Parts: sequence; C-alpha cells; structure tokens
Amino acid sequence: MTLDAVLTHIDETLPEATERLMEVLRIPSISTDPAFKADCARAADWMVAELAALGFKAEVRPTPGHPMVVARHEGPGPHLLFYGHYDVQPVDPLNLWHRAPFEPAIEETANGPVIRGRGSSDDKGQLMTFVEACRAYKAVTGTLPGNLTIFLEGEEESGSPSLIPFLNQYKDELSCDLALICDTGMVSPGVPSIAGQLRGMLKEEFTLHGPRIDLHSGHYGGPALNPLREISKLIASFHDEDGRVAVEGFYEGVHEVPAELKRQWENCGFDEHEYLAHAGMTVAHGEKGYTALEQQWARPTLEINGLWGGYQGAGSKTVIPAEAHCKITCRLVGDMDPTHVRAAVRRHVEARLPTDARVTWDSDIDGAPAAVMDTSRPEFEAARQALSDEWNREAVIVGMGGSIPIAYYFKTILGMDALLIGYANDDDAIHSPNEKYDVKSFHKGIRSWARVLDRIAG
Ligand SMILES: [Zn+2]
Repeated sequence: MTLDAVLTHIDETLPEATERLMEVLRIPSISTDPAFKADCARAADWMVAELAALGFKAEVRPTPGHPMVVARHEGPGPHLLFYGHYDVQPVDPLNLWHRAPFEPAIEETANGPVIRGRGSSDDKGQLMTFVEACRAYKAVTGTLPGNLTIFLEGEEESGSPSLIPFLNQYKDELSCDLALICDTGMVSPGVPSIAGQLRGMLKEEFTLHGPRIDLHSGHYGGPALNPLREISKLIASFHDEDGRVAVEGFYEGVHEVPAELKRQWENCGFDEHEYLAHAGMTVAHGEKGYTALEQQWARPTLEINGLWGGYQGAGSKTVIPAEAHCKITCRLVGDMDPTHVRAAVRRHVEARLPTDARVTWDSDIDGAPAAVMDTSRPEFEAARQALSDEWNREAVIVGMGGSIPIAYYFKTILGMDALLIGYANDDDAIHSPNEKYDVKSFHKGIRSWARVLDRIAG
C-alpha cells in the first residue's frame, strides 16, 4: 500500500513542508513591478533548486520578461504537465495588512489555522501542494510518481506576455497527455472541485454618430437626432423580457447542461441566497428558467460595461451630443464562435440605426471561445474519486464564470485538456491585503495530489 505510506509521510512532515512554503513566500516576486525583477529571478531559481533536489531535471528558461521554470522526470504512464505560477500580485495598500506581506506566519483564526502572506494562496501555496506530493512519493518509494513535467510561469499576474511565444517555441516538449493546473478554488469550503468548463470572452466598443457637431438644444432640440436616446433604445433591445439575449443567432453553439452535471451542481454546496446577498441582491436577474449557478457557469451573457456621451461636468449644459459610446463584453460558453457572435451583435445594431445615424466599431478588440474540457476522459472520473476519498465529500465538476487563460492556451496551442484542481477558498483574499491559505487547504491539497497521482500517473 504505497499510497497509505505516502499519505502518512505527508502527515508526519507537514511542519517541514510548511516551512519550505514560508521560505518561498519570503521572496517578493511581484511580476508587474520592474523593481522586483531580481526577486522574480530568485523565486525561479529557488523553485529550480527544490525540483532538482527531488530528482527532476530542472532549469530556468529565460524569456524577454521573467523566466519560466521547466522540470522533467521521465517515468512510466501518461505524460502529465503540472502548471503553476511563482509570481505574485503587488501588496498595496500596505497599511491594510496586519502583518508584513512577505513575512509569512501561521495565524490562528475562527476557521482554523491559516498561512498568512502574499502568494500563500495565489499561487505559491497551491503549486507547492503538488511539489510536496511529489516529495512524499520520492521519500517513500525512492522515485518520483510517473511521467512528469512541471512548468512554472513568472508572469501570470502581469498578463503573461511571454507565454504564447514560449508555448509555441517549446510546443513539442510541453504537449503532454494531460495538464494539471493548481490555481483555482473550491466551490464551497470542503467541497473538492474540478473545473470542467470556463467561459470565453468577446469585447466590443462602438460609437453611435448623429449630428455633425454638438448642437444647442434650444436651436435644434426637437428636430435633432439625439445619439444618447438612440443608443439607449439599442441597448434596451439587446435583451428580451425574460432576460434572454435578443440578438439573432447569439445562442448558436450553446448547449444545455447534461443531467449528470446538473445533479452534481445541485449538490455542490453553493448557496444562491448568500451569493446574491453578497452583492446586495435578493433575486437572480438573468435569464429566466436558470439558477444563478447555471447563469454564471453555463449561460452566455451580453453585458453593458460602459455607456457615455454628452456633458458630464458640473452643472448643466443644454447640449445635444454629436455621438454616444458603449462598451460591451460577452461571456461565451460551449461552442460559441467569437467571430460569429461579433458579426451577430454588429448586425443587430446596424439593422436598428435610424436615418442619419451611423455606427463605428473599435476593431482592435479580440475574443476567445470558452475552454470546455473533455470531462468524459477517464482521468476526470479518477480524479473525482481521488478527491472524494480525501475530502469525504463527493467531488464536483464545476464550471467557472471567468476565464483561466492558461487552460485555453493549453487547449488551443498544445491540444491538451486540463484538470483544474485547486484548494483555495473564497475568503483567501487573493490579490488583496491579508492574503491567506488555510493550513487545511495546504495539507489536504498535498494529500489530494498524492491520491490523484496514485490513480492517474504510472
Ligand atoms: Zn493565480
């Protein structure tokens, strides 16, 4: 029973594992601020030294920005690629932290002990759960578990400028059978979650042009075409009474949630009332006939993010503006094609323009389709079993309302599905002051990876 021995080893060496995490948390690897460039390099070097000591062939690979870490261990079984990132977010506003962000410590809280410090949850604590699971296997069996590549990025928190060129450059080496990504959370505390679908995104911005110049409302008010009035009508036409997007062709490629997945979602501990209350709402305002969770994870949206025009200064000005502006984003699901959605939205607007109005589009804004994993692969069920065993609670294949770009790039550039498994909680305050990672997340996270590797690695 290798797994039992590995789990016992993890339990017995948790203090040492925690101390190693503290060590890398002390390195202020803030990727967006050039002042911390040397610290980012130091964090990459630290990771390479750790992985090399475990028996990986590990190296730092330079990029025009911060370096990547690639570590390889050849072994039996499917080739798995683990992804995490060693960079962190800036710490401002510093005065809201109740301890120095890069002097981490264990703190007792009402919900149990936490590791406090920048990067404790996003993503150093999470990525170290995988490294520590590997270490425990090595300690117990003398070798690392399976056929592994570890790939760590140092620019995730600053827009990943080097990522796409790097993936293209090392495509052959990094294209594996399956990616494992540890940079997400649990749908509710104690409910192990695997993200199976992530919504895509389309952005649009348009200007509605009316009169040749701004007009005086005494002189032209009445006969004038008012772009603000017209753009309001257009925006009101984007949705019907039931909250459905009324743009023709918008829902092409959208699929209903399969019954088995729906069952898991109904049983995932998501509290709709609390979710709505957190935002000051009492009901879900989206598409009728779908729960808030379905609306967030499995339905597309067309949102107005900005709307402006005319006079915005103090006091009043009797102006009829020459133009009005609008910013839109759509969250995409299933097989929706961003190019098709863009054309449909534009057709919708252009077909409704009154005489003398015209529209111009900001054409530099692009989009990305949803990332939908093939959850019928046996590794998904194996991972679900492994996580259910560890947490004593049925693991759930969840959706994600936002995007995790890396999962999308793995899919499109490397042709790989990803198992997105993470142990973060909603109250971890990632990107915010007083970031923390529950000791329970760290400990059970390590044990979870040990169980997942036991089931899917060689
Ligand atoms: Zn992250």
